[in-house]
This record gives sequence, structure tokens and C-alpha cells, in this order.
Amino acid sequence: LRFIIHNANQLLTMTMIDKSNQLGLIEHGSIIIEENKITRVCSANDIVPKIDKHTQVFDASGCVVSPGLIDSHTHPVFIGSRECEFGLRIKGATYTEISQSGGGIRSTVAKVRDANLNELVSAAKPRLDRLMKWGTTTIEAKSGYGLNLETEVKMLEAIKILNQRHPIELIPTFLGAHEFPNEYRENHQGYIDHIINEMLPYVAKQKLAEYCDVFCEEGWFNYKDSKTILQQAKSLGLGIRLHADEFKPSKAARLAVELDASSADHLAAITDEDITLLANSNVVATLMPSTILSVLGKQFAPARKLIDAGVTVALATDLNPGSSMVESLPIVMSLACMIMRMTPEEAWLATTINAARAINRTHIIGSLEQGKQADICIWKMPSYSYLPYHIGFMPEVVIKNGEVIYF
Ligand SMILES: [Zn+2]
Repeated sequence: LRFIIHNANQLLTMTMIDKSNQLGLIEHGSIIIEENKITRVCSANDIVPKIDKHTQVFDASGCVVSPGLIDSHTHPVFIGSRECEFGLRIKGATYTEISQSGGGIRSTVAKVRDANLNELVSAAKPRLDRLMKWGTTTIEAKSGYGLNLETEVKMLEAIKILNQRHPIELIPTFLGAHEFPNEYRENHQGYIDHIINEMLPYVAKQKLAEYCDVFCEEGWFNYKDSKTILQQAKSLGLGIRLHADEFKPSKAARLAVELDASSADHLAAITDEDITLLANSNVVATLMPSTILSVLGKQFAPARKLIDAGVTVALATDLNPGSSMVESLPIVMSLACMIMRMTPEEAWLATTINAARAINRTHIIGSLEQGKQADICIWKMPSYSYLPYHIGFMPEVVIKNGEVIYF
């Protein structure tokens, strides 16, 4: 069966031809899909689509066609919600006051520990449905609300099941070093040893995660502890990514470069010196403006400085119940343009090919090229700049692996 998306007003291939056409834009472009792969990308003039019982044609005139969006940083598996502390935060409550009122990450950890595997899967499914309706076809998905071996494994198993059952593809990341659990409040080294000696070897052996992530920040896992954990992960064959320099400069971006991490995420407090280090590395900088907005912060990541220095920048939702309850990459693209002054072109790159690089999938997804997996969005809008401009705009059709998953 052949599927032809014909005569798109703008076809965003994301295969940069030169600086003047960063998005590899083809005006009046067509794309041919056979099985689950893209077999041809060309000008609409180059093909005469014949409709027969083996060929389906979608008339994309008046539409923009792009790769499926990629969300390279999410925490989609959790129980409950935390709008209560959001209300308190707006009234000026501090982090400690929120914790004392029963909020904060520990409240999510308690609920996730109490839930069984099925409950975790059922709670995450509607979030994946919403991600999909916003045009996302692949996400990186983290554990990190278990903070003990049993529950971290349960979360990773939930991610595995969701990946099998849901059209969205999930790339699993082990985030045992998200926070210190209550039972290790007074014994941080004990928890770090537990991660290194028990959790990581088990997760690697059972192949439950592709990446290991650490919340690298003073007061949580500092430079030295993060390095020890990530080195162990690397020696066990896992890829590396970091929650880096979110609140204060903590040498986390530097550590990402030292360990050749796939991505350093947040970076609101990155130093100029570390921007230069990132620019001379393969590490992708993943920025998440909705998180800063949700916690009523004022310091956003220096997107302009990073991009102007030559750093590869991706955008992600950071979907989580505490600090970023959003499933929409198009909204994040709007925020990136409006708050961080990224251009619409940069926002598109950041949610497609650059995000694919942050999860080491550029050979499969992130662009529309012959041989790549057919992950595609069709947007009924006049031009690509329309998406960040129209806050909350949604795609008309979402295709994953050659199949229409949302229409
Ligand atoms: Zn996060």
C-alpha cells in the first residue's frame, strides 16, 4: 500500500540545504510512504498521483507537512496531580511550605510507590493520547518517582508496556537520582551507593533503560556524585543525560561535556564559560521554558546565547506533575519564541531534528528523507511560522510509522 501526501504548501524536510533554507523547505512538495518508510520526497510537479486500490492520496494543498514532533524530556508516568501546590505558589508559598503541606516531589513518590503496574500504565495513557494529538510521535520518558529499586523498575516496566501498546514511541531513561528518598534523608551517600551497586546493574542487565539521567544541582546530586553515578551507568552501557544547571551553576553542563552526554537539560543558570564548552561538544542543550513559567521563575535559559554560540538546541515539555503540566510541544515552541526569542525556524529544528539528536535517533526520525521512518504531521495552516504564532494550534493529521494515528 502506498500513501501519498500531495502538494503541501510547505514541506519541511529538516534536511538543511544551506543557511538560507535551514528547514530544507520545499514549496508545493509531495511525499510518498510505502509500508512504514518514506520512499520519496519531491516537488509536487514531479509526480502524477494515480489513485488505485494500492494507493491512497491525501491532498495537502493549503497545509504544512513536517516530521512528527519529538519530545526529548518527559516524566509521563506518575499518579495524581499537584494543582494544590500551584495555587499555594501563586500566593507566594515557599518550597518548604509546600513540602510541609504534603506537596512536592515526595508526595508523587508516595503515590507511585503505592500504585501497581496497571495503575501506572492507565494513568500515563491519556497523557500519551494528548501528546499525540499535539503532534508528538516520539518521547524520551523517565522513571524517577520510585527512588527505590522496586518502584523504579515498576516505572520502567510501565514505560515498556506503554511503548508496546501506544502508537507513540517511548525511549526509557532511568532517573533514580532524581531526589533523595525519605529513608535516605540523613544518608545521601547510602542512596548513591544503592543506585550504583543495586539499581544501575539491575536496570542495565534487564535492559529496562537506554539512558541514565541525574538531577545534577547543589543540594541534590552535586558534580562529584553525579559523575560517579553517570560513570557507572556508562560502564554498564547506558547513554547519559543530565538535569543540568536549573537553579544555580553547578558544573553540570561541564560534566555533560566531560562524559559526552547526549543532552544537558534546563540550563537556566549556565555560565558563559560552559556555553563555550557545550558549543565545542556533541551535547545537545534541551530547553524547557514551560517549567520556568510553571514555577513562576524569571530566569529562562539563555537560548539566544546558546544558539549564537553554535550549541545545538532542542525544546521539550518536561511533562511532570510538579513543575510542567503540559503535553503540547507547539505551546512550548510558542513560549520559546515569545520568551526566549528563538525564531520560528529554530523552534522547528528544536522539536524535530535537534530533538532526534538528543536521543540519538537522527538516522531514523527527525527529518523527512528517503529511507526514514514515516513519522509525519500535517498542519492546516498557511506557513510554518504560523505554529508558534497561534498559541495552542493542533495538527490535522498525525502519522506514526506509516500509520495514521490521529485524524
Ligand atoms: Zn525533568
